[in-house]
Amino acid sequence: MTSFNDLGLAEPLLRALDREGYAHPTPIQFRSIPALREGRDLVGIAQTGTGKTAAFVLPILERLLDAKAAVPSRCASVLILAPTRELVGQINDQVQAYGRFVRFHSTTVIGGAAARPQIRALQSGLDVLVATPGRLLDHLGSGALRLDKTTTVVLDEADQMLDLGFLPAIRQVMRALPVERQTILFSATMPKQIRALADDFMTDPVEVSVTPAARPADLVEQSVLPVPASEKRAKLASLLAKREVSRAIVFTRTKRGADRVCRHLEGAGLRAAAIHGNKSQNQRERTLAAFKDGRVTILVATDIAARGIDIDGVSHVFNYELPNVPEAYVHRIGRTARAGASGTAVSLMDPEERGLLRDIEKLIGQTLLDDGQSYQDRKSGTAKPRKPQQRRRSRPQSQGSKPQGQAPRKVESDEAGLARLLAKPQKPRRQRRRRPPTRDAA
Ligand code: AMP
Repeated sequence: MTSFNDLGLAEPLLRALDREGYAHPTPIQFRSIPALREGRDLVGIAQTGTGKTAAFVLPILERLLDAKAAVPSRCASVLILAPTRELVGQINDQVQAYGRFVRFHSTTVIGGAAARPQIRALQSGLDVLVATPGRLLDHLGSGALRLDKTTTVVLDEADQMLDLGFLPAIRQVMRALPVERQTILFSATMPKQIRALADDFMTDPVEVSVTPAARPADLVEQSVLPVPASEKRAKLASLLAKREVSRAIVFTRTKRGADRVCRHLEGAGLRAAAIHGNKSQNQRERTLAAFKDGRVTILVATDIAARGIDIDGVSHVFNYELPNVPEAYVHRIGRTARAGASGTAVSLMDPEERGLLRDIEKLIGQTLLDDGQSYQDRKSGTAKPRKPQQRRRSRPQSQGSKPQGQAPRKVESDEAGLARLLAKPQKPRRQRRRRPPTRDAA
């Protein structure tokens, strides 16, 4: 098996990797690092969980080791763009961790935080700037930042940035960069707008694509409980009170929903906190810190707020409502069963949500609820007769699921090792039409 040593990485980086306990490059690292060290542009099709951050951060840091000249004021040598504040923080953490034996300056620029300290940090010139696109544009517009000395730009989770409406901002940023530069783009999927972005702004990119060796859907014990919407809060509180639930994330579809559920759980004496786009940056950071150190054991989150949250030891994921977008289900359950631990995902499903469940089953290729209405039953024509379909959110829905739970399904993949270590969201098998998040979803 290849080691990081075999890749020829510089000694200070090898020492840092050793400190992190990483002996072998993941497939995306193995395939991207040599091309990036040669200075090639790169399109990486990979999800969080594949080790993609280190894949681009390590070659960047290696170049910083050789950098002689100081970065001019208000300039950034490397720019990394990511969709959410949490992801920006996590990327910067990894930059710091892998670069612990490298001398360099990095900072983050994110919306929802005070602009002044960011402007002060930009003033001295930076080796690495990690940012969300919106606030970065503000600083570009005000002259607090220039990009004419930037030599490397990374667009991370490009498809997420597209979903969040950042594409015009990204194009504006790309136009402010020098023509001579290295451009790196990572995305879990390749919608045509992202392909067009690569065509417009990249030069002969190397394309590297990895799918996680095992799908988290195979590693997580999943079950679906049919529960009428009116009974969900009480049911959730009783499930969360069980002793085996040591650290849980509850997903709701809307921000208001997250607050309501959180209040109910607190009222039931549980240590819960909500995290979503209406919370200030400070509140979000405090909540995440409390969840990490165990003062809070239940995080109630919306999909976008929870994307990329990298916390080990989440024993359970609860879907208070099923997501409208089936891929989100895979992202959600990927929050548990990380770092080789086992995990459990429980979905509370109102009969109205049966159509959403069918879409999820189709995406992951598993039947989660055996009530004669799964996608496979429909395909094979064995579906039990159902009442006339209701239309909601332009999806076929059915009524009248049997109000009974189902024994959890556990499908252990035989691909052990790294896959178990890095178990995270699965790449959708085929490109599906993406629906924009609802306005209240962030
Ligand atoms: P990412 O896909 O960048 O979100 O990385 C997922 C997780 O894998 C992070 O927690 C990394 O710290 C970890 N990781 C990255 N590279 C390796 C490696 N070579 N071996 C083991 N874990 C790694």
